[in-house]
Amino acid sequence: MSERVIVIGAGIVGLTTAWSLHQRGWRVTVVDARTPGYGASRVNAGRICPTHSDPVPAPGLVKQSIEWMRRSDSPLYIQPRPSPDLSRFLYIFWRHCNQKSYDTGSAAMAELGRQTVEQLAAIRASGVEFEEHDRGTLHVYESRARLEADTRASEEFRSNGDLHVSEMILGDDLRQLEPALSDHVIGGYMVHEDRLVRPDSLTAGLADWLTERGVEIRTKTEVTGLDVSNGRVTDVRFASGRLETDAVVIAAGTWSPILAKMAGRRVPIQPGKGYSLDYTPAPVELRNQLSVDAGRHAVSPFDGMTRLAGTMELSGINERIRPERVEAIIRSAARTFQGWPTDVRIPTIGSGMRPLSADGLPLIGWLKGYRNLSIAAGHGMLGLSLSASTGEALADLMTTGRQPDVLKPFDPARFGRMA
Ligand SMILES: Cc1cc2nc3c(=O)[nH]c(=O)nc-3n(C[C@H](O)[C@H](O)[C@H](O)COP(=O)(O)OP(=O)(O)OC[C@H]3O[C@@H](n4cnc5c(N)ncnc54)[C@H](O)[C@@H]3O)c2cc1C
Repeated sequence: MSERVIVIGAGIVGLTTAWSLHQRGWRVTVVDARTPGYGASRVNAGRICPTHSDPVPAPGLVKQSIEWMRRSDSPLYIQPRPSPDLSRFLYIFWRHCNQKSYDTGSAAMAELGRQTVEQLAAIRASGVEFEEHDRGTLHVYESRARLEADTRASEEFRSNGDLHVSEMILGDDLRQLEPALSDHVIGGYMVHEDRLVRPDSLTAGLADWLTERGVEIRTKTEVTGLDVSNGRVTDVRFASGRLETDAVVIAAGTWSPILAKMAGRRVPIQPGKGYSLDYTPAPVELRNQLSVDAGRHAVSPFDGMTRLAGTMELSGINERIRPERVEAIIRSAARTFQGWPTDVRIPTIGSGMRPLSADGLPLIGWLKGYRNLSIAAGHGMLGLSLSASTGEALADLMTTGRQPDVLKPFDPARFGRMA
Protein backbone atom coordinates (compact mmCIF):
# COMPACT_ATOMS: atom_id res chain seq x y z
CA MET A 1 0.00 0.00 0.00
CA SER A 2 1.34 3.45 -0.86
CA GLU A 3 2.18 5.81 1.96
CA ARG A 4 0.28 8.95 2.87
CA VAL A 5 2.10 12.26 3.02
CA ILE A 6 0.82 15.70 3.94
CA VAL A 7 2.57 18.66 2.36
CA ILE A 8 1.98 21.81 4.42
CA GLY A 9 2.04 24.84 2.13
CA ALA A 10 0.83 25.20 -1.47
CA GLY A 11 3.45 27.71 -2.57
CA ILE A 12 5.78 26.91 -5.41
CA VAL A 13 8.01 24.72 -3.21
CA GLY A 14 5.12 22.72 -1.71
CA LEU A 15 3.43 22.17 -5.08
CA THR A 16 6.58 21.02 -6.90
CA THR A 17 7.35 18.70 -3.98
CA ALA A 18 3.79 17.34 -4.15
CA TRP A 19 4.28 16.75 -7.89
CA SER A 20 7.53 14.80 -7.29
CA LEU A 21 6.03 12.73 -4.46
CA HIS A 22 2.93 11.94 -6.53
CA GLN A 23 5.20 10.78 -9.39
CA ARG A 24 6.82 8.33 -6.95
CA GLY A 25 3.51 6.82 -5.91
CA TRP A 26 2.87 8.61 -2.59
CA ARG A 27 -0.71 9.42 -1.63
CA VAL A 28 -0.37 13.18 -1.30
CA THR A 29 -2.58 15.72 0.48
CA VAL A 30 -1.63 19.40 0.26
CA VAL A 31 -2.88 21.76 2.96
CA ASP A 32 -2.75 25.55 2.79
CA ALA A 33 -3.96 28.29 5.08
CA ARG A 34 -4.91 30.32 1.98
CA THR A 35 -5.21 29.21 -1.64
CA PRO A 36 -2.41 27.76 -3.80
CA GLY A 37 0.29 30.25 -4.79
CA TYR A 38 -0.80 33.05 -2.47
CA GLY A 39 2.40 33.39 -0.41
CA ALA A 40 5.70 34.76 -1.69
CA SER A 41 5.13 32.71 -4.82
CA ARG A 42 2.46 35.16 -6.00
CA VAL A 43 4.64 38.28 -6.32
CA ASN A 44 7.94 36.98 -7.58
CA ALA A 45 9.75 38.16 -10.68
CA GLY A 46 9.61 34.77 -12.37
CA ARG A 47 13.31 34.51 -13.01
CA ILE A 48 14.80 31.05 -13.26
CA CYS A 49 18.57 31.23 -12.95
CA PRO A 50 19.84 27.67 -12.85
CA THR A 51 23.51 28.10 -11.92
CA HIS A 52 23.99 31.80 -11.18
CA SER A 53 22.70 31.43 -7.66
CA ASP A 54 24.15 33.62 -4.93
CA PRO A 55 23.26 33.34 -1.24
CA VAL A 56 21.96 36.59 0.28
CA PRO A 57 24.77 36.88 2.90
CA ALA A 58 27.69 38.24 0.86
CA PRO A 59 31.09 39.80 1.52
CA GLY A 60 30.72 43.51 2.33
CA LEU A 61 27.01 43.24 3.17
CA VAL A 62 27.48 43.85 6.92
CA LYS A 63 28.81 47.39 6.40
CA GLN A 64 26.35 48.11 3.62
CA SER A 65 23.32 46.80 5.53
CA ILE A 66 24.17 48.86 8.62
CA GLU A 67 24.19 51.97 6.41
CA TRP A 68 20.92 50.90 4.75
CA MET A 69 19.23 50.32 8.13
CA ARG A 70 18.99 54.10 8.51
CA ARG A 71 16.93 54.55 5.31
CA SER A 72 13.48 53.05 4.91
CA ASP A 73 13.64 53.41 1.08
CA SER A 74 16.94 51.49 0.76
CA PRO A 75 17.16 48.17 -1.16
CA LEU A 76 17.59 46.27 2.14
CA TYR A 77 15.80 47.54 5.21
CA ILE A 78 16.08 45.88 8.61
CA GLN A 79 13.56 47.27 11.06
CA PRO A 80 15.25 47.21 14.48
CA ARG A 81 13.04 45.37 17.01
CA PRO A 82 13.58 43.25 20.11
CA SER A 83 13.30 39.63 19.00
CA PRO A 84 15.51 36.72 20.10
CA ASP A 85 14.77 34.90 16.81
CA LEU A 86 15.82 37.96 14.77
CA SER A 87 18.99 38.41 16.88
CA ARG A 88 19.97 34.76 16.38
CA PHE A 89 19.20 35.06 12.66
CA LEU A 90 21.30 38.22 12.22
CA TYR A 91 24.19 36.74 14.21
CA ILE A 92 24.35 33.70 11.89
CA PHE A 93 23.65 35.86 8.80
CA TRP A 94 26.46 38.31 9.48
CA ARG A 95 28.88 35.48 10.29
CA HIS A 96 28.22 34.16 6.77
CA CYS A 97 28.98 37.48 5.05
CA ASN A 98 32.46 36.33 3.97
CA GLN A 99 34.00 35.11 0.74
CA LYS A 100 34.41 31.48 1.79
CA SER A 101 30.77 30.97 2.87
CA TYR A 102 29.59 32.87 -0.20
CA ASP A 103 31.64 30.71 -2.59
CA THR A 104 30.64 27.38 -1.03
CA GLY A 105 26.99 28.49 -0.82
CA SER A 106 26.96 29.62 -4.47
CA ALA A 107 28.50 26.32 -5.60
CA ALA A 108 25.96 24.26 -3.60
CA MET A 109 23.00 26.18 -5.02
CA ALA A 110 24.40 25.99 -8.56
CA GLU A 111 24.61 22.21 -8.14
CA LEU A 112 21.01 22.02 -6.91
CA GLY A 113 19.81 24.35 -9.67
CA ARG A 114 21.61 22.49 -12.46
CA GLN A 115 18.58 20.23 -13.04
CA THR A 116 16.02 23.05 -12.91
CA VAL A 117 15.45 23.60 -16.60
CA GLU A 118 15.32 19.87 -17.34
CA GLN A 119 12.99 19.39 -14.39
CA LEU A 120 10.63 22.14 -15.54
CA ALA A 121 10.58 20.46 -18.94
CA ALA A 122 9.59 17.18 -17.24
CA ILE A 123 6.81 18.96 -15.35
CA ARG A 124 5.53 20.43 -18.61
CA ALA A 125 5.81 17.06 -20.38
CA SER A 126 3.64 15.50 -17.66
CA GLY A 127 0.83 17.85 -18.71
CA VAL A 128 1.23 20.89 -16.41
CA GLU A 129 0.53 24.09 -18.34
CA PHE A 130 2.37 27.34 -17.54
CA GLU A 131 3.80 30.45 -19.20
CA GLU A 132 7.53 30.24 -19.89
CA HIS A 133 9.92 32.38 -21.96
CA ASP A 134 13.34 31.28 -23.10
CA ARG A 135 15.20 34.55 -23.37
CA GLY A 136 17.97 34.99 -20.77
CA THR A 137 18.40 37.91 -18.37
CA LEU A 138 19.95 41.23 -19.32
CA HIS A 139 21.79 42.71 -16.30
CA VAL A 140 22.14 46.49 -16.67
CA TYR A 141 24.13 49.06 -14.67
CA GLU A 142 24.53 52.77 -14.11
CA SER A 143 27.90 52.35 -12.42
CA ARG A 144 30.91 51.27 -14.46
CA ALA A 145 32.71 50.06 -11.31
CA ARG A 146 29.83 47.76 -10.34
CA LEU A 147 29.42 46.48 -13.87
CA GLU A 148 33.13 45.62 -14.05
CA ALA A 149 33.09 43.95 -10.63
CA ASP A 150 30.04 41.81 -11.50
CA THR A 151 31.36 40.92 -14.94
CA ARG A 152 34.63 39.79 -13.32
CA ALA A 153 32.66 37.69 -10.80
CA SER A 154 30.65 35.99 -13.53
CA GLU A 155 33.89 35.19 -15.42
CA GLU A 156 34.57 32.42 -12.94
CA PHE A 157 31.28 30.74 -13.91
CA ARG A 158 32.08 31.31 -17.57
CA SER A 159 35.55 29.77 -17.28
CA ASN A 160 34.33 26.56 -15.63
CA GLY A 161 31.68 26.16 -18.31
CA ASP A 162 28.75 26.52 -15.92
CA LEU A 163 27.21 29.60 -17.37
CA HIS A 164 26.57 30.94 -20.80
CA VAL A 165 27.19 34.62 -20.07
CA SER A 166 28.17 37.37 -22.48
CA GLU A 167 31.12 39.77 -22.29
CA MET A 168 30.37 43.35 -21.18
CA ILE A 169 27.94 45.05 -23.55
CA LEU A 170 28.27 48.84 -23.82
CA GLY A 171 26.70 51.87 -25.54
CA ASP A 172 24.95 51.29 -28.87
CA ASP A 173 25.35 47.52 -28.65
CA LEU A 174 23.34 47.55 -25.42
CA ARG A 175 20.66 49.83 -26.87
CA GLN A 176 20.27 47.57 -29.85
CA LEU A 177 19.41 44.77 -27.47
CA GLU A 178 17.06 46.95 -25.40
CA PRO A 179 16.11 50.24 -27.12
CA ALA A 180 14.00 51.46 -24.17
CA LEU A 181 17.01 51.94 -21.87
CA SER A 182 17.72 55.52 -20.77
CA ASP A 183 21.09 57.29 -20.95
CA HIS A 184 21.65 56.64 -17.24
CA VAL A 185 22.42 53.01 -18.09
CA ILE A 186 26.01 52.61 -19.24
CA GLY A 187 26.35 48.88 -19.82
CA GLY A 188 25.42 45.35 -18.98
CA TYR A 189 25.84 41.69 -19.72
CA MET A 190 23.51 38.88 -20.67
CA VAL A 191 23.04 35.54 -18.89
CA HIS A 192 21.71 33.39 -21.71
CA GLU A 193 20.70 30.30 -19.78
CA ASP A 194 18.03 32.05 -17.65
CA ARG A 195 14.33 31.56 -18.21
CA LEU A 196 11.24 33.55 -17.29
CA VAL A 197 8.23 31.72 -15.84
CA ARG A 198 5.05 33.47 -14.83
CA PRO A 199 4.80 32.27 -11.23
CA ASP A 200 1.02 32.30 -10.83
CA SER A 201 0.66 30.29 -14.04
CA LEU A 202 3.00 27.61 -12.65
CA THR A 203 1.30 27.37 -9.24
CA ALA A 204 -2.16 27.29 -10.86
CA GLY A 205 -0.98 24.73 -13.45
CA LEU A 206 0.47 22.45 -10.76
CA ALA A 207 -2.61 22.76 -8.53
CA ASP A 208 -4.91 21.85 -11.45
CA TRP A 209 -2.72 18.94 -12.51
CA LEU A 210 -2.55 17.53 -8.96
CA THR A 211 -6.29 17.94 -8.41
CA GLU A 212 -7.10 16.19 -11.69
CA ARG A 213 -5.02 13.22 -10.51
CA GLY A 214 -6.84 12.87 -7.24
CA VAL A 215 -4.50 14.80 -4.96
CA GLU A 216 -6.57 16.62 -2.37
CA ILE A 217 -5.64 20.28 -1.95
CA ARG A 218 -7.27 21.57 1.22
CA THR A 219 -7.46 25.34 0.98
CA LYS A 220 -8.17 27.86 3.77
CA THR A 221 -7.04 25.19 6.22
CA GLU A 222 -4.40 26.36 8.66
CA VAL A 223 -2.32 23.69 10.35
CA THR A 224 -2.46 24.35 14.09
CA GLY A 225 -0.56 21.38 15.52
CA LEU A 226 1.44 18.22 14.87
CA ASP A 227 0.97 15.12 17.01
CA VAL A 228 4.23 13.35 17.73
CA SER A 229 4.75 9.86 19.09
CA ASN A 230 8.08 7.98 19.32
CA GLY A 231 9.89 10.46 17.08
CA ARG A 232 7.23 10.33 14.37
CA VAL A 233 4.48 12.71 13.40
CA THR A 234 1.26 10.73 13.44
CA ASP A 235 -1.39 13.41 12.83
CA VAL A 236 -1.69 16.92 11.48
CA ARG A 237 -4.22 19.10 13.29
CA PHE A 238 -6.46 21.92 12.04
CA ALA A 239 -9.17 23.99 13.72
CA SER A 240 -11.72 21.65 12.14
CA GLY A 241 -10.12 18.28 12.89
CA ARG A 242 -7.07 16.19 12.15
CA LEU A 243 -5.60 13.93 9.50
CA GLU A 244 -3.58 10.80 10.15
CA THR A 245 -0.43 10.48 8.06
CA ASP A 246 2.75 8.49 7.43
CA ALA A 247 4.91 11.52 6.63
CA VAL A 248 4.84 15.32 6.59
CA VAL A 249 6.68 17.96 4.57
CA ILE A 250 6.83 21.48 5.97
CA ALA A 251 6.89 23.75 2.91
CA ALA A 252 5.28 26.78 4.48
CA GLY A 253 7.80 29.37 3.28
CA THR A 254 8.37 32.12 5.78
CA TRP A 255 5.86 30.55 8.21
CA SER A 256 7.88 27.31 8.42
CA PRO A 257 9.51 28.14 11.81
CA ILE A 258 6.02 28.22 13.36
CA LEU A 259 5.32 24.72 12.06
CA ALA A 260 8.77 23.39 13.00
CA LYS A 261 8.17 24.69 16.53
CA MET A 262 5.04 22.49 16.71
CA ALA A 263 7.47 19.54 16.48
CA GLY A 264 9.95 21.07 18.94
CA ARG A 265 12.40 22.32 16.29
CA ARG A 266 13.90 25.78 15.79
CA VAL A 267 14.79 26.83 12.25
CA PRO A 268 16.33 30.26 11.56
CA ILE A 269 14.13 31.69 8.81
CA GLN A 270 13.00 35.32 8.66
CA PRO A 271 10.61 37.02 6.26
CA GLY A 272 12.29 39.26 3.66
CA LYS A 273 9.40 41.28 2.33
CA GLY A 274 9.43 42.38 -1.31
CA TYR A 275 7.01 44.08 -3.67
CA SER A 276 5.57 43.46 -7.10
CA LEU A 277 4.21 46.26 -9.27
CA ASP A 278 2.15 44.92 -12.17
CA TYR A 279 1.55 47.07 -15.24
CA THR A 280 -1.26 45.93 -17.54
CA PRO A 281 -0.62 46.68 -20.33
CA ALA A 282 3.16 47.26 -20.26
CA PRO A 283 3.86 51.02 -20.21
CA VAL A 284 7.08 50.60 -22.24
CA GLU A 285 7.79 47.83 -24.71
CA LEU A 286 10.68 45.65 -23.53
CA ARG A 287 12.47 42.86 -25.36
CA ASN A 288 14.19 41.30 -22.35
CA GLN A 289 13.76 40.39 -18.73
CA LEU A 290 16.17 42.61 -16.84
CA SER A 291 18.00 42.83 -13.56
CA VAL A 292 18.72 46.47 -12.78
CA ASP A 293 21.84 47.63 -10.94
CA ALA A 294 23.03 44.40 -9.34
CA GLY A 295 19.53 43.13 -8.60
CA ARG A 296 18.15 46.36 -7.10
CA HIS A 297 14.98 45.46 -8.92
CA ALA A 298 13.85 43.04 -11.61
CA VAL A 299 11.75 43.78 -14.67
CA SER A 300 9.75 40.90 -16.11
CA PRO A 301 7.79 41.23 -19.34
CA PHE A 302 5.10 38.51 -19.22
CA ASP A 303 2.37 38.05 -21.82
CA GLY A 304 0.21 41.18 -21.54
CA MET A 305 1.69 42.34 -18.21
CA THR A 306 5.06 43.70 -17.09
CA ARG A 307 6.12 43.26 -13.46
CA LEU A 308 8.63 45.28 -11.48
CA ALA A 309 9.79 43.40 -8.40
CA GLY A 310 12.26 44.19 -5.70
CA THR A 311 13.46 45.53 -2.36
CA MET A 312 14.06 43.52 0.79
CA GLU A 313 12.59 44.41 4.15
CA LEU A 314 13.15 42.48 7.38
CA SER A 315 10.26 43.69 9.50
CA GLY A 316 8.69 40.48 10.79
CA ILE A 317 5.70 38.62 9.41
CA ASN A 318 3.51 41.22 7.74
CA GLU A 319 2.46 42.04 4.19
CA ARG A 320 1.96 45.77 4.84
CA ILE A 321 2.79 47.91 1.83
CA ARG A 322 5.14 50.82 2.59
CA PRO A 323 4.61 53.62 0.05
CA GLU A 324 8.21 54.88 0.27
CA ARG A 325 9.55 51.49 -0.80
CA VAL A 326 7.10 51.22 -3.71
CA GLU A 327 8.07 54.73 -4.83
CA ALA A 328 11.77 53.78 -4.70
CA ILE A 329 11.11 50.94 -7.19
CA ILE A 330 9.15 53.23 -9.52
CA ARG A 331 11.88 55.91 -9.34
CA SER A 332 14.47 53.31 -10.25
CA ALA A 333 12.41 52.11 -13.25
CA ALA A 334 11.89 55.70 -14.40
CA ARG A 335 15.67 56.27 -14.34
CA THR A 336 16.31 53.04 -16.21
CA PHE A 337 13.75 53.28 -19.05
CA GLN A 338 12.72 56.15 -21.27
CA GLY A 339 9.08 57.08 -20.76
CA TRP A 340 8.41 54.92 -17.67
CA PRO A 341 5.45 56.54 -15.84
CA THR A 342 5.99 57.75 -12.27
CA ASP A 343 2.31 57.74 -11.28
CA VAL A 344 2.02 55.32 -8.37
CA ARG A 345 -1.70 54.73 -9.13
CA ILE A 346 -0.98 52.91 -12.41
CA PRO A 347 0.42 49.55 -11.20
CA THR A 348 -1.33 46.88 -9.16
CA ILE A 349 0.84 46.51 -6.07
CA GLY A 350 1.45 43.32 -4.15
CA SER A 351 3.80 42.20 -1.42
CA GLY A 352 5.15 38.86 -0.28
CA MET A 353 7.69 37.46 2.14
CA ARG A 354 10.74 35.60 0.89
CA PRO A 355 11.69 32.88 3.35
CA LEU A 356 15.27 33.94 4.16
CA SER A 357 17.45 31.43 5.94
CA ALA A 358 20.21 32.67 8.21
CA ASP A 359 23.07 31.32 6.08
CA GLY A 360 21.36 32.04 2.75
CA LEU A 361 20.83 28.37 1.84
CA PRO A 362 17.49 26.57 1.92
CA LEU A 363 16.76 23.89 4.51
CA ILE A 364 15.86 20.66 2.73
CA GLY A 365 15.73 17.33 4.54
CA TRP A 366 14.64 15.61 7.76
CA LEU A 367 14.24 17.72 10.84
CA LYS A 368 16.59 16.53 13.57
CA GLY A 369 15.51 13.31 15.24
CA TYR A 370 12.65 12.64 12.79
CA ARG A 371 12.47 10.20 9.90
CA ASN A 372 9.01 11.14 8.71
CA LEU A 373 9.04 14.93 9.17
CA SER A 374 10.93 16.90 6.56
CA ILE A 375 11.26 20.54 5.63
CA ALA A 376 11.71 22.32 2.30
CA ALA A 377 11.91 26.03 3.11
CA GLY A 378 14.20 29.04 3.30
CA HIS A 379 14.78 29.46 -0.44
CA GLY A 380 15.05 33.24 -0.13
CA MET A 381 15.40 34.94 -3.51
CA LEU A 382 15.55 31.63 -5.38
CA GLY A 383 12.39 29.77 -4.44
CA LEU A 384 11.06 29.56 -7.97
CA SER A 385 14.47 28.81 -9.46
CA LEU A 386 15.20 25.95 -7.08
CA SER A 387 11.65 24.67 -6.51
CA ALA A 388 11.54 21.84 -9.04
CA SER A 389 14.98 20.49 -8.13
CA THR A 390 14.15 20.77 -4.41
CA GLY A 391 11.00 18.70 -4.92
CA GLU A 392 12.86 16.00 -6.81
CA ALA A 393 15.75 15.69 -4.36
CA LEU A 394 13.49 15.70 -1.30
CA ALA A 395 11.15 13.12 -2.85
CA ASP A 396 14.21 10.90 -3.48
CA LEU A 397 15.29 11.24 0.16
CA MET A 398 11.81 10.46 1.45
CA THR A 399 11.26 7.53 -0.88
CA THR A 400 14.65 5.82 -0.54
CA GLY A 401 15.66 7.00 2.95
CA ARG A 402 19.07 7.98 1.49
CA GLN A 403 20.22 11.59 1.36
CA PRO A 404 21.22 12.51 -2.21
CA ASP A 405 24.69 14.17 -2.30
CA VAL A 406 23.15 17.34 -3.75
CA LEU A 407 21.16 17.82 -0.51
CA LYS A 408 24.10 17.56 1.92
CA PRO A 409 24.77 21.34 2.10
CA PHE A 410 21.07 21.95 2.81
CA ASP A 411 20.66 19.53 5.72
CA PRO A 412 18.75 21.39 8.48
CA ALA A 413 21.08 19.71 11.02
CA ARG A 414 23.75 22.31 10.15
CA PHE A 415 21.92 24.67 12.52
CA GLY A 416 22.52 22.39 15.50
CA ARG A 417 20.59 19.93 17.55
CA MET A 418 17.45 22.06 17.80
CA ALA A 419 16.90 22.10 14.01
C1 LIG B 1 9.47 40.54 -4.80
C2 LIG B 1 9.98 39.13 -4.93
C3 LIG B 1 10.61 38.73 -6.12
C4 LIG B 1 11.09 37.42 -6.24
N1 LIG B 1 11.64 37.03 -7.43
C5 LIG B 1 12.08 35.75 -7.58
C6 LIG B 1 12.59 35.30 -8.82
O1 LIG B 1 12.63 36.03 -9.81
N2 LIG B 1 13.04 34.01 -8.90
C7 LIG B 1 13.00 33.16 -7.82
O2 LIG B 1 13.45 32.02 -7.94
N3 LIG B 1 12.49 33.56 -6.64
C8 LIG B 1 12.03 34.83 -6.49
N4 LIG B 1 11.50 35.24 -5.30
C9 LIG B 1 11.49 34.31 -4.17
C10 LIG B 1 10.36 33.30 -4.24
O3 LIG B 1 9.15 33.95 -4.54
C11 LIG B 1 10.25 32.55 -2.91
O4 LIG B 1 11.48 32.02 -2.54
C12 LIG B 1 9.23 31.43 -3.05
O5 LIG B 1 7.99 31.93 -3.47
C13 LIG B 1 9.06 30.68 -1.75
O6 LIG B 1 8.09 29.71 -1.99
P1 LIG B 1 7.51 28.81 -0.84
O7 LIG B 1 6.61 27.83 -1.48
O8 LIG B 1 8.62 28.31 0.02
O9 LIG B 1 6.70 29.84 0.09
P2 LIG B 1 5.33 30.60 -0.15
O10 LIG B 1 5.09 30.88 -1.58
O11 LIG B 1 5.33 31.76 0.77
O12 LIG B 1 4.23 29.54 0.29
C14 LIG B 1 4.07 29.15 1.63
C15 LIG B 1 2.63 28.68 1.81
O13 LIG B 1 2.49 28.12 3.12
C16 LIG B 1 1.19 28.41 3.57
N5 LIG B 1 1.13 28.30 5.04
C17 LIG B 1 1.81 29.03 5.96
N6 LIG B 1 1.50 28.64 7.21
C18 LIG B 1 0.61 27.63 7.09
C19 LIG B 1 -0.10 26.82 8.03
N7 LIG B 1 0.07 26.95 9.36
N8 LIG B 1 -0.97 25.89 7.56
C20 LIG B 1 -1.15 25.73 6.23
N9 LIG B 1 -0.50 26.48 5.29
C21 LIG B 1 0.37 27.42 5.72
C22 LIG B 1 0.95 29.84 3.09
O14 LIG B 1 -0.42 30.15 3.06
C23 LIG B 1 1.63 29.82 1.71
O15 LIG B 1 0.71 29.55 0.67
C24 LIG B 1 10.97 36.52 -5.15
C25 LIG B 1 10.33 36.92 -3.98
C26 LIG B 1 9.81 38.21 -3.86
C27 LIG B 1 9.10 38.60 -2.60
